This record gives sequence, structure tokens and C-alpha cells, in this order.
Amino acid sequence: MTDRFRAIRVSKAETGQTTELVDLTLNDLMEGDVTVAVDYSTVNYKDGLALTGKAPIIRSFPLIPGIDFAGKVESSTNTNFKPGDRVVLNGYGVGETHNGGYAQKARIKGDWLLKLPDTISSAHAMAIGTAGYTAMLCVLALEHGGVTPDKGDVLVTGAVGGVGSVAIALLAKLGYRVIASTGRASEADYLKSLGAADIIDRNELSAPGKPIGKERWAGVVDAVGSHTLANALASTRYGGTVAACGLAQGMDLPASVAPFILRGVTLAGIDSVQAPMAKRVAAWARLAKDLDLGKLDAMTTRANLKDVIDLGPKILAGQVRGRVVIDVNA
Ligand code: NDP
Repeated sequence: MTDRFRAIRVSKAETGQTTELVDLTLNDLMEGDVTVAVDYSTVNYKDGLALTGKAPIIRSFPLIPGIDFAGKVESSTNTNFKPGDRVVLNGYGVGETHNGGYAQKARIKGDWLLKLPDTISSAHAMAIGTAGYTAMLCVLALEHGGVTPDKGDVLVTGAVGGVGSVAIALLAKLGYRVIASTGRASEADYLKSLGAADIIDRNELSAPGKPIGKERWAGVVDAVGSHTLANALASTRYGGTVAACGLAQGMDLPASVAPFILRGVTLAGIDSVQAPMAKRVAAWARLAKDLDLGKLDAMTTRANLKDVIDLGPKILAGQVRGRVVIDVNA
């Protein structure tokens, strides 16, 4: 039996970094108490930043990138896991400081793993991926803020992207009226098929705006940051909640305190990487219940390990629609 397997590896080069498909052995993996035979990984925005080196996501070279994966436990000295367990991993620095999901094998700390709900296959787990799990965390934050469907419209920014697509599907199924903000007018039919009631051009939100505006949104799922988030806050209705998870437009937040002190708006920060295990379990349980798998399939395309190298720059350029599942064994 050979312990060789294929992986994408990023190494430091004289200028920048190189990304290549390589053959590795289990000895090349980092320490951990669980070894997983990876079935699928995926490409998130952060993976794009890591693969291209556009942001210092990778902090240990050489490294297998890929911030998430789903697969089966192959061996374990962690008492919580046994061979054959179906597991998913999101975050915890995997694909940043620890070898990640773009490989046929992964060795990690069992404490980072979550057992997949029975109704979610490995492929669906990565169609959801960190983007979809983050979308669920955003929806949970809106619910926590008391944003119920009767309170009014919910805005989703970065709508055609991974977080946006899953957020729309989830919110629509839960009965919310969803307004999708996108720069891709050509994807209007796609967004409507996911459940968007209406679509606005992202240019409406992306320029510097007023500190406070007309009350439009009962809640917001924002994957974009910068002026878009500032304008979303300014148009959130009294007592509404804005879940901020992304920075596709920028990391800045050129806003005022007006929405908070005049309208009691809540800005809920969403982090998927270090989210406590109880929150993760709750999010995956809700995904199993509240995500329409037909819609998930409709927003998902498939690719293989080698394709990952080209998908990095593509996702940063906003050229990926919905979610991409990487079949690491194809
Ligand atoms: P995608 O690239 O799939 O989606 C991002 C979307 O944002 C694009 O599809 C595009 O939507 C929109 N967009 C891109 N560039 C701009 C721009 N300059 N101005 C306005 N809108 C823009 O990425 P993901 O869905 O994987 O991630 C979305 C964001 O969420 C990222 O910033 C990512 O880092 C963050 N994230 C954060 C997590 C956390 O733990 N907080 C976890 C996961 C993701 P459209 O074409 O419809 O306009």
C-alpha cells in the first residue's frame, strides 16, 4: 500500500509564491491526532487570497492551502473519532498555518472536526463550505437580533458569490423577502431562482453615502464591507440587525454612529474561523434543516485539484458564480 497522495502546495519564491500540484506522503503532513481521507474541498474568497498571495493568508511555507474539507476519518488517536466517521472542517487556521483541504489526505487536530449531520453528504458539505456555513452564521445573527420575516426586507450583498448565494437560498426558505445586491445584472434569473424577490445594482451601495438614509432593510447579510456596509447600515430600519462577514469591496468601514444611536441598529460581526464548537454544531444542524439541496446543487459547479490554481484569481475577480466543489480524487 502506498501512502502517496496528490496535493496543491504553495511555496515561497524569490518574489512572491509558487503554487503547484505535487505528490506527497503522509510524512509531509503536520502533526495531528486524526487523519482524514479527503473527499472534497472547495474554493472560498479567502482561498483565492491564499492561492494568489494577494493577502498574507498563508503564514507557514510550504503549505497545502484550502480552508475547509469534508471526508472520512482514516485513523484517529482522538477518542471522539473513529475510522469511517464522516467529518467536516472549517477554519481553525487550516489552509493558513496548518496544511489544508487541497489534498487527498489531511492530518489535523480532532478538536477542529465536526461530525457531519446524516443528511449532508461530503459533496454537499463542501458545496456549502465555509462560505455557506458563514451565511448560516449570518442568518442566525439576524434571528438573534429579532429580525423575523414580518419585519421587512432583508438585503444580501455580494449576492452572486458563495456567501450571498447560500444566504439568499436560506432566507427565502425561511420566508424572508430577500433583496439581492449584485454587480452582475446578467445573473438576475439565477438570483431569482435561489429565491431573491428583487435585485438592485451594487453601484447603488458602493459609493460614499449619507450617514443616515431612508429605512429600507429589516436586516442585512453583508459580504462586501466598505461603503456598501456603511450604506446598508444607513438604510437599516429601526431596531434592525446587520450581519457583517466580508470585505469583497474593502476592509474599511466609512460609516457614522447615526444608525446605532438614532435607530438602535445592531452591527453583528461574523467570524467563522474561531467560532466556538457549539455555534458550529448549531449552524450545521440548521443547514441540514433549512437549506434547499436542489438550490444548493443549482449554485454549485465541480472542478478538480489542478483547477484550483486557476480558480484562485477567478474568485478574486468576481468571476465565480455561487459555489465550486473540488473533487480531490478526480
Ligand atoms: P465570492 O467571491 O464568492 O463572493 C464575493 C462577491 O462579492 C462577488 O461574487 C461579488 O458579488 C461581490 N464583490 C466582489 N468584488 C466586489 C466589489 N469590489 N464591490 C462590491 N461587491 C463586490 O466570495 P465568498 O462568498 O467566498 O466570500 C464573500 C466575503 O465573505 C469575502 O470577503 C470573504 O473573505 C468573506 N468571508 C468571511 C468569513 C468570515 O469568517 N467572516 C467566512 C467566509 C467568507 P456580485 O457579483 O453579486 O456583485
